[in-house]
Amino acid sequence: MRDLVSLLNSEFDVLNVSERLMRLRESVQGRIVFTTSFGLEDQYLSHLIFSQDIAIDVVTLDTGRLFAETYALWQATEEKYRRRIKAYHPDANVLQEMIAEQGVNGFYHSLEARKTCCGVRKVEPLKRALAGAGAWVTGLRGDQSEARGSIDFASFDTGFGLVKANPLADVSRAQVDAAARVAGVPLNPLHARGFPSIGCAPCTRAIKPGEDERAGRWWWEKDEKKECGLHVAADGSIKPRFVHSDGDRPWAV
Ligand code: SF4
Repeated sequence: MRDLVSLLNSEFDVLNVSERLMRLRESVQGRIVFTTSFGLEDQYLSHLIFSQDIAIDVVTLDTGRLFAETYALWQATEEKYRRRIKAYHPDANVLQEMIAEQGVNGFYHSLEARKTCCGVRKVEPLKRALAGAGAWVTGLRGDQSEARGSIDFASFDTGFGLVKANPLADVSRAQVDAAARVAGVPLNPLHARGFPSIGCAPCTRAIKPGEDERAGRWWWEKDEKKECGLHVAADGSIKPRFVHSDGDRPWAV
């Protein structure tokens, strides 16, 4: 598995995003899962997977607290590509207990309550989504926030026991945006209203000019804590690799 990670890291370096997805498919045995939250990067990856018929399962984690615009985009995406995006929901009994204990918006009260909510609504469903998979594809980019700093193209996720692939790791938001618009990819209208990063409605606000892309997520917390638990390594770190500037990579769509 470690050899595969090294191979993917060296090969992805000279491939475009479509080729990276296809190379991953050729290299990994068994099921590959792409988890979309319908943001710009995820929509572009869904477009590449669906339009090229790459055998990667596109799934989503429906927390039950998403924006109405996100649900509308989910439907529009399924209709455009004529594919169903499988949803994983929180366990109903555990969710019921959590709300009874912390209240319907208990995540505002403490970091612990917020992490509990993300654990119930996102992390546990993600575990079910990835069960038995050989690889997990994400839409992470290295320049999304200081915490994400930079990330590898591929790594071994010890928590889930699979290869985690980030085919957009070295790509800028502007590059993804341009490619998505040329391709006619359906996008969330909230992006144009100051929401570069879109999560659950009660935990996402629009950002101000000059703010970090992810400043609108859990805006009441400090940046180093602003991850939901889906993309943090077992030791709590996110390893640096890329520091992106537009045009400095052999990236092409
Ligand atoms: S982002 Fe907010 S509402 Fe969504 S799972 Fe995390 S704490 Fe809960």
